[in-house]
Amino acid sequence: MQEKGTISIHTENIFPIIKKFLYSDHEIFLRELVSNAVDATQKIKRLASIGQYNGELGELKVEIAFDETAKTLTISDRGLGMTADEIKKYINQIAFSGAEEFVEKFKDSKDANEIIGKFGMGFYSAFMVADQVEIQTLSYQDDAESARWICDGSTEFEITPGSRTERGTQITLHINKDSEEFLNEQKLQGILDKYCKFLPVPIKFGTRNKQEPDGEEEGKPKYKSVEIDNIINNTSPIWTKAPSELKDEDYLNFYKELYPFTEDPLFWIHLNVDYPFNLTGVLYFPKLKNDFEIQRNKIKLYSRQVFITDEVKDVVPEFLMLLHGVLDSPDIPLNVSRSFLQADSHVKKINNYITKKVADKLSELFKSDRKAFEQKWTDIGIFVKYGMISEEKFYDKAKDFALLNNTKNEYYTLQEYREKVKVQQTDKDETVVYLYATDINKQDSFIQSANKKQYDVLVMNSPIDTHFVSQLEQKLDKTSLKRVDSDVADKLISKDDVVETVLNEEDITRIKAIFEKAVTKPNMNVEIESLHPDEFPVIVTMDEFMRRMKDMSQMGGGMNFYGSMPDTYKVAINGNHKLIGRILLTDNEEEQTALAKQAFDLALLSQGMLSGAELTEFVNRSVNFI
Ligand code: ADP
Ligand code: MG
Repeated sequence: MQEKGTISIHTENIFPIIKKFLYSDHEIFLRELVSNAVDATQKIKRLASIGQYNGELGELKVEIAFDETAKTLTISDRGLGMTADEIKKYINQIAFSGAEEFVEKFKDSKDANEIIGKFGMGFYSAFMVADQVEIQTLSYQDDAESARWICDGSTEFEITPGSRTERGTQITLHINKDSEEFLNEQKLQGILDKYCKFLPVPIKFGTRNKQEPDGEEEGKPKYKSVEIDNIINNTSPIWTKAPSELKDEDYLNFYKELYPFTEDPLFWIHLNVDYPFNLTGVLYFPKLKNDFEIQRNKIKLYSRQVFITDEVKDVVPEFLMLLHGVLDSPDIPLNVSRSFLQADSHVKKINNYITKKVADKLSELFKSDRKAFEQKWTDIGIFVKYGMISEEKFYDKAKDFALLNNTKNEYYTLQEYREKVKVQQTDKDETVVYLYATDINKQDSFIQSANKKQYDVLVMNSPIDTHFVSQLEQKLDKTSLKRVDSDVADKLISKDDVVETVLNEEDITRIKAIFEKAVTKPNMNVEIESLHPDEFPVIVTMDEFMRRMKDMSQMGGGMNFYGSMPDTYKVAINGNHKLIGRILLTDNEEEQTALAKQAFDLALLSQGMLSGAELTEFVNRSVNFI
């Protein structure tokens, strides 16, 4: 009894196409075949559990073995097996909606997943690496006869009675010339580690007939055949367990398993939903070191414990890409493609769910132990701020636990902070002005001046803060944020109490001319202001708006117009300072200029803006003064 037939696809050319277009992802054939074996194993277990199979289950494991000499790779399972009819139904009739459409649509595609997913041909991915594939199988059904299917990668196949005596399926790939790299232990181990590490059925990986050195014989090295076998997977990773079964240690150990040599995470969230979609997983908040760009793509996406991808961009909200961990959703097909993820409505729901969970967890941490939350804020803050900027829904939740910290190392919620500063820092238009420093060392003199006026100064020193500042300003009612060095302290928050000037019109013109001569740096505009006498004589500032636009364009905010503009500063001369009076009284022009230069350089120096030859000149001049 032998049957020959033609696989029902409409072109003879389909396999060459598969091979040609899928070159980049060849390795996924193993994922497809192993997961078929796992599926078959799960199915027999299920049949047994509902009483539809009463035989012995035996040792349910999937075995992968290769033989370098015979150039074969085999995947065997003790699953439910197939009858000859089932082979015809499930293997031969591939759901191609038309070869022409296929060729047309995917001639430029490099995404094997898209093709495999779309055309339901996981099994056929074997032909990417094999020029002959053989199935030996015995169905679990009573009185089933074993069957053998063999196909050489053309559309011709052959079904004959098989030789298998044990329930289950063995797939043998005769690896083609171009794919011999897959007959290598390290290579296979690597692929299995990537895709199969957490499969729910034990996976045994071995090499048959591996040649190992075995001493010498008549002066020549001798080899012996060895078999290597081991179970390579963890069948019940923690995300499949109930949170109540797990201790902190389990989560930490799993983290180490996923990311060896990484510092312990700050905390984690165990996800577990079954309605309206299925999702399990554990997300970890890593310790960040501000170099967060590098740490992306650390979350691994699984579908029923089969690894799919670590490019979770479309599944996880952008701002949570910095998290680590695993997500598992059977609603996401194994051979999922990019375009599928983007369009899928489950994925959108998953996205919202994760956002909500993360917000809830943070809120809970904040409420249960505020001190600890504050201590972790440097790390957590990056996620929170990023989230508040990019997701409206997250902002609404996070506004109650997001913290602002000031130069005194105190932490406030947004609401607390407003209460704290509103009396001192409301300007004459009823706007509350929040002051912030981006570099507490460089901006120290400004911070001190602000503090003298009873103003508080926030610290906004992470890269994300540039955007966060704008976001706060948009979201908070009647609030503006100013960097502490964006103007002289008296003017940062404009109030009605103007400081009277001691200079008359003529003095102002004279002193302006003196300073304009002394300030030789370009793009420095001298302005005479009437400040408190105990403020510095000269203060160099950059306008808040201008600086912010420049920061944004530097971060790639698209405002290149500002990015290309030179840095422009205001050189505020404190007309009420004693030194100004002294300069005016000096009749030696040279000395006037020297004093003005000295005062200007001191202002630059206090902001770390004096260096090189200018600094040397300043030091020399100072020595002369002494
Ligand atoms: P999918 O797994 O998405 O159904 P595949 O092309 O991977 O598509 O497999 C086609 C079908 O062949 C499977 O649905 C299953 O019925 C059958 N099959 C494949 N491998 C096995 C196996 N090892 N044991 C039993 N049936 C199998
Ligand atoms: Mg499959």
